[in-house]
Amino acid sequence: MATLTSPLPSPLSEAKRIVIKIGSSLLVDQENGELKGAWLKDLVADIADLKARGQEVVIVSSGAIALGRRVLKFKPGTLKLEEDQAAAAVGQVDLAHAYREALARKRIVAAQILVTLGDTEERRRYLNARNTIATLLRLGAVPVINENDTVATSEIRVGDNDRLAARVASMISADCLVLLSNVAGLYTSAPGTGDASEVLAQVKQITPEIDAMVSGKISTMGKGGMATKIAAARIAMAAGTHMAIADGRQSNPLKAIEKDNLCTWFLPAATPVAARKKWIAGTLEPRGQFTIDEGAAKALNSGKSLLPAGVIEVTGTFSRGDAVSVISTQGVELARGLSAYGVGDGQAIMGHKSSDIEAILGYRGRSEMIHRDDLVLMKGQVT
Ligand code: GLU
Repeated sequence: MATLTSPLPSPLSEAKRIVIKIGSSLLVDQENGELKGAWLKDLVADIADLKARGQEVVIVSSGAIALGRRVLKFKPGTLKLEEDQAAAAVGQVDLAHAYREALARKRIVAAQILVTLGDTEERRRYLNARNTIATLLRLGAVPVINENDTVATSEIRVGDNDRLAARVASMISADCLVLLSNVAGLYTSAPGTGDASEVLAQVKQITPEIDAMVSGKISTMGKGGMATKIAAARIAMAAGTHMAIADGRQSNPLKAIEKDNLCTWFLPAATPVAARKKWIAGTLEPRGQFTIDEGAAKALNSGKSLLPAGVIEVTGTFSRGDAVSVISTQGVELARGLSAYGVGDGQAIMGHKSSDIEAILGYRGRSEMIHRDDLVLMKGQVT
């Protein structure tokens, strides 16, 4: 098998915010259903090195169902949805514990986050999850994320952690996503078919040819296969995130990726910031309008957030996290952004100092009406 190696520095070395997805088969022994502690220790050493360089790391880990089914003594084979959910409820405790112990040995704080599809899609919950993860990262913790399998029925679940990890990476504007599993990357033909098979070094676009290369074979333990990895790549690339499919079975898998780039990299055309701004300004339909005064307009032009004090009027029908237009008193659209408040609360706090928000609303909301990370200036002005 020939492997095309990339001459470029690894996107993993250059990323600021990295999501690492760990498949069940890496973490849980296929034979006896036990957690592979030595493997986890090795991986955490790599993660500690990334963090020591100032990179932020988020883990998306499978393994709850695989661990739980052993404890509940389920027989091998496919489980009913509710049995899967019961196994996840039991196994998630062990999974979180394993990460806490392993990360603590490197003096890293672990945080457990269980998400559903709605948390990455529904605007209000999207902003909440994004803010919580950003806060944890600022505090130096490593969020360990899994799908909230116990509440997610078939209609409302992602179902596989490849796509879940890509949605998380997109939600938090990660620059890099690494899918660690038991394949070395995307092969030009299925391994074992007799053809000379190669791992592609780079993919810049998911062509029909690539779709055809994906057999859709499901791995025995986790829910993913190559098809879910390609679906994840589509999500990641659209969000401006570099994504790797890499073999997690090698020792120090993250170091190995950086050193030899023996994996497939999916390269996005834009950066996460540019992709997110395009999404906010171009894809989302504004549901309301904030009219702002001149002082606020100046602040926006210099890259600042929109504070309630500078807002003169709030109109429309929108909730927290919805897109809104920001207009001048002359009616010119100056910017678009995701509102940190719904229309009612926005009207209540407009014109007021951020320090008065709690007294007005009865809860401590965000200081900004629209945070600068969620704001895009129109007419090509630079934020
Ligand atoms: N959320 C599932 C678990 O933790 C895994 C889904 C997958 O294998 O992709 O067991």
